[in-house]
Amino acid sequence: MGIRYDWQEAEIRSIYDTPLLELVYQAATVHRQYHNSKQIQVCKLISIKTGACPEDCSYCAQSSRYQTQVKPQALLEKETVVNIAQQAKAKGVSRVCMGAAWREVRDNSQFEHVLDMVKEVTGLGLEVCCTLGMLTENQAKRLEDAGLYAYNHNLDTSQEYYSTIITTRTYDDRLNTINNVRQTNVTVCSGGILGLGETIADRVSMLHTLANLRPHPESVPINILSKVKGTPLENQPDIPIWDVVRMIATARIIMPASDVRLSAGRANLSQVEQALCFMAGANSIFSSDDGHMLTVTTPCPGYDADQQMLDLLGLEVRPAFVRQPVV
Ligand code: SAM
Ligand code: SF4
Repeated sequence: MGIRYDWQEAEIRSIYDTPLLELVYQAATVHRQYHNSKQIQVCKLISIKTGACPEDCSYCAQSSRYQTQVKPQALLEKETVVNIAQQAKAKGVSRVCMGAAWREVRDNSQFEHVLDMVKEVTGLGLEVCCTLGMLTENQAKRLEDAGLYAYNHNLDTSQEYYSTIITTRTYDDRLNTINNVRQTNVTVCSGGILGLGETIADRVSMLHTLANLRPHPESVPINILSKVKGTPLENQPDIPIWDVVRMIATARIIMPASDVRLSAGRANLSQVEQALCFMAGANSIFSSDDGHMLTVTTPCPGYDADQQMLDLLGLEVRPAFVRQPVV
């Protein structure tokens, strides 16, 4: 079966509801048609500007509206970012993602500074991804000119549930930014979070939106909510591993050529649970050397522990720039 852009919600729901082992088998089969199933992409997230964000995303430790453990930090120096990226590369990382707690990119000296970072880290032979909030088409073009490989902009949840989670921007704002990135050759990274209190219908609706984008996002992160003390979602119930596996497998089947990233929340999964996620089609992870993914509130497994796990499972790290284009 080729890549489809006309998925109906009912079809996606029926995939999501397939008996679990059959679902994993189908996803594993599709995975092998489109990817080298031995390879896992290992990414490193660097928070280049932390906290004091004006947005009210109710899961986020970096929103200025909530009292969390996160200490705001101004934009990092380029040398600091390049050093972290070099160390990550030495540990097998092939993609570096730079995150800024901004509502949107502004055309100012800080953006020039980020463009410089993108150039320099790309020059190390790494895929560079940025997640900087909303972006105009012109800003996307400038990032492209600097060598940017990917832009992350998550939908997070369904259109229907979005305003329960975030009130300071709309779903259409999100889709507009993705569309602006699509006017360039920068690839798109967009996915969501499990555990926000959404229904299965919301998960299916979000997958439906992603799978009807043409082309599909080249990368689809599936996050498990990291419950951050001080945020409105700190007391959400845990998400069963089975929901995570279903979400990954469904994303894999309907967006077969995309990378599916097991992102936030992986630190709480056992190796057996992670192996099941890889079997269901996850082929990308975040790894770190400082114990956290983006801020102190999101734990992340270490490079060496991850390398040991990959060795154990007979998996290898995917080099930079080898993914096939999504058609
Ligand atoms: N400010 C930019 C934006 O919102 O696009 C980029 C940074 S933001 C931290 C990037 C993504 O991290 C969010 O879209 C969300 O999906 C994920 N994220 C943030 N906090 C999280 C949490 N507590 N648990 C799981 N995922 C989270
Ligand atoms: Fe700001 Fe991004 Fe956090 Fe929302 S997710 S509060 S936009 S840093």
